[in-house]
Amino acid sequence: MATKPPSDPKTLAAQLRMGDRAALARAITLVESKKSEHRAKAQELLKILLPATGTALRVGITGAPGVGKSTTIDALGTYLTDHKHRVAVLAVDPSSVRTGGSILGDKTRMQKLAVDDRAFVRPSPADGTLGGVAARTRETMLLCEAAGYDVVLVETVGIGQSEMAVASMTDTFLALMLPGAGDELQGIKKGLLELVDVVAVNKADGDNLPRARAAASSLKAALHILASTAGTEMPPILTYSALTGDGIGDLWKAIEAHRKKLASNGKLEEKRREQQVRWMWSLVDNHIRERLRTDPKLRSRMPALEKAVAEGKLPAALAAAEISKLLGI
Ligand code: GDP
Repeated sequence: MATKPPSDPKTLAAQLRMGDRAALARAITLVESKKSEHRAKAQELLKILLPATGTALRVGITGAPGVGKSTTIDALGTYLTDHKHRVAVLAVDPSSVRTGGSILGDKTRMQKLAVDDRAFVRPSPADGTLGGVAARTRETMLLCEAAGYDVVLVETVGIGQSEMAVASMTDTFLALMLPGAGDELQGIKKGLLELVDVVAVNKADGDNLPRARAAASSLKAALHILASTAGTEMPPILTYSALTGDGIGDLWKAIEAHRKKLASNGKLEEKRREQQVRWMWSLVDNHIRERLRTDPKLRSRMPALEKAVAEGKLPAALAAAEISKLLGI
């Protein structure tokens, strides 16, 4: 459903701050737009709203398809709105653009939250590049915070680069796991431990219960070894059922405990400062890539340069130097 972007960022900011959902949707449309006049207005809007941002508990959620991400977000989100929170659900899923597959954050995947007044669900922006999608989602997160949402859940698929992008815009990163033979080690690849703050094994219900508990035990053993080798702290490992709701409260407690710990030792501010700076550089990176794609001079020169490099007629370094010169850097 296309929403018409408004003309005046100040009015829009005021409406959004009052909790007007239509204004929030319009603001997001503005932020996601590729038109340069919309982008300029979006930046003006974000500048006005910046003092009202940074207030939410930002949670990243990852897990392989079928692990139960949408069921979990529906259950956790409803638990939170029942406890007087206001919840925004966002997603980073650049693959949905290419594959045309199910879009993360699609409202039909979260049926209770989709009709919950205290929740706002927004699917992944369709930008096509991870950098673009991540930047739009980050800006949308700021809009949601300014609109009074105090918990933001950002969903992603279990793919390295997207997970990195979500971890670098959230405070607490949650990895969901399936019970089952060997599955418990699926996500504990190198690098994930550095990102993950809470690990939770879903589907701990009915016949699955013993398998979920066994999965949690072997995860604990595997993570213990990984953590002690890396000299890092071990994340808490829980079991829960998104279907019955068993353990959802404890899952939230573990997320809150992690965030409280961050806040109490000054690490939250440090983490967010680092994230801001990293974000600035990734925007610079996006701008450069955008120039490469759109600048007519660069575009007309690029095929010849690529061909010459591929055929070994021009050293890659010389071609790169020429591109940099054309970019003015
Ligand atoms: P996603 O692809 O990660 O978003 O996974 P979904 O939330 O769509 O869930 C995939 C399947 O697992 C669906 O058939 C769900 O009904 C089922 N499922 C999700 N959570 C649970 C759970 O806690 N217990 C059981 N038994 N099934 C679940």
